[in-house]
Amino acid sequence: MNPGGTQRPRAAVVLTGSELVTGVIVDANGPWLARELTTLGFEVVHLLGVGDRPDDLAAALRYCAAAGCVLVVTSGGLGPTADDLTGEIVAAFAGVELEIDDALQERIAAIVSRFPRIDQDPAARDAGIRKQAFVPRGAVVLEPVGTAPGLVVSADDGPVVVVLPGPPRELTGMWPAALASPPMQALLATVPPAHGRLLRYYGLYEAEVAATLRALEQECDLSGVEVTTCLRRSELEVDLRPQPGAEDAARWLAAELVSRHANRLVSADGTSTDELLARTLLDRGLTVATAESCTGGLLAGRLVDRPGSSAYVQGGVVSYSNAAKTALLGVPAEMIEEHGAVSPEVARAMADGARAALDADVGIGITGVAGPDGGTAAKPVGYVCLCVTTASGVVLARDRRLPGGRADVRDRSVDAGMHMLLRVVTGLR
Ligand code: ATP
Ligand code: MG
Repeated sequence: MNPGGTQRPRAAVVLTGSELVTGVIVDANGPWLARELTTLGFEVVHLLGVGDRPDDLAAALRYCAAAGCVLVVTSGGLGPTADDLTGEIVAAFAGVELEIDDALQERIAAIVSRFPRIDQDPAARDAGIRKQAFVPRGAVVLEPVGTAPGLVVSADDGPVVVVLPGPPRELTGMWPAALASPPMQALLATVPPAHGRLLRYYGLYEAEVAATLRALEQECDLSGVEVTTCLRRSELEVDLRPQPGAEDAARWLAAELVSRHANRLVSADGTSTDELLARTLLDRGLTVATAESCTGGLLAGRLVDRPGSSAYVQGGVVSYSNAAKTALLGVPAEMIEEHGAVSPEVARAMADGARAALDADVGIGITGVAGPDGGTAAKPVGYVCLCVTTASGVVLARDRRLPGGRADVRDRSVDAGMHMLLRVVTGLR
């Protein structure tokens, strides 16, 4: 279901910066731009990274053009320093001269004057400002979000090149202006709507989806629907993207995948688990409290990641030692003695204890063996007990053997806890 010849306009992202290709910094712009372009309906065919070498950037641009891209978005290399060469190279690629834009130079100077640097040599500063005010003839200037302006350059018979600054905050901040520029508006008018669908599952295996897809292919021509399955955190995301004309097939496929794996479905519109849980807690006016041992507060951290979470998170207790479990959560010492700190009984007592201590409607307890040491034959590394209890008497308990090293076990425990909370609060009225 990956059609060879695509009908969507092709786009590419070129990331510049020697610090990227040497691994000194991790790219944040490529995935962000790729998602934006895909959502707009482009087929992103290349994500390229090049160091700050003019020939390599020029080659990357030619490569994208040769690949049939109608749009290339670049990031980085717009600053005042000598290694910031993107504007110059894009101008040469488009076959136009660079011209000084006096008004732009003044605007940049005004911005720079707001950030006076005592150590800066005024001549160097002015040279930097002047350098940034050179614009390829005919290009649209995107106003600086930091100090560097962006550009939209249209090459004759070539792709539109959108030139954006490297710092992620500046790049994302400038993107709306790039989209609003006349060359981008003209291009967007030719892009068919994406009609993408993202299905999110928990506890479903890629192989199961693959088997379902094989069966469905017998029933319907799905050659125009690109299906990508991706395991992210503990969830399986199934992304459906129709080529123009295959929208009905994609709708049918989505409905089939939803109904055939309904019990593992988290959302049929891409909504995240965290968002769903937050919404459900808010809608039902419920509050939650956590009691964590092996996850050491990671679950509470995840819950309060969202702005506005104080409306439904009462708080959390990190009870790592047995003594803390007893003192802070009222877990009986004899229970720990009898069943062990990692046991379904203790997980449940922790959930009840958190609810009582923090006066919440819903409590969750997590206790497990994160490793690498401390495992036994009966309770190996990765053995984790989770329990959700509610004031109204609902109890959902699981004990799992989670794979991976210490960090994996802790992360997966948090994922499991989020899904158990979602399941319980969805069932509460
Ligand atoms: P500046 O005016 O800051 O020099 P610029 O457009 O010239 O901006 P770069 O010099 O390439 O951009 O990068 C500036 C800084 O932005 C880098 O040091 C890095 O911290 C960040 N940055 C650049 N590209 C990326 C990227 N792809 N992902 C994450 N951060 C990036
Ligand atoms: Mg720079």
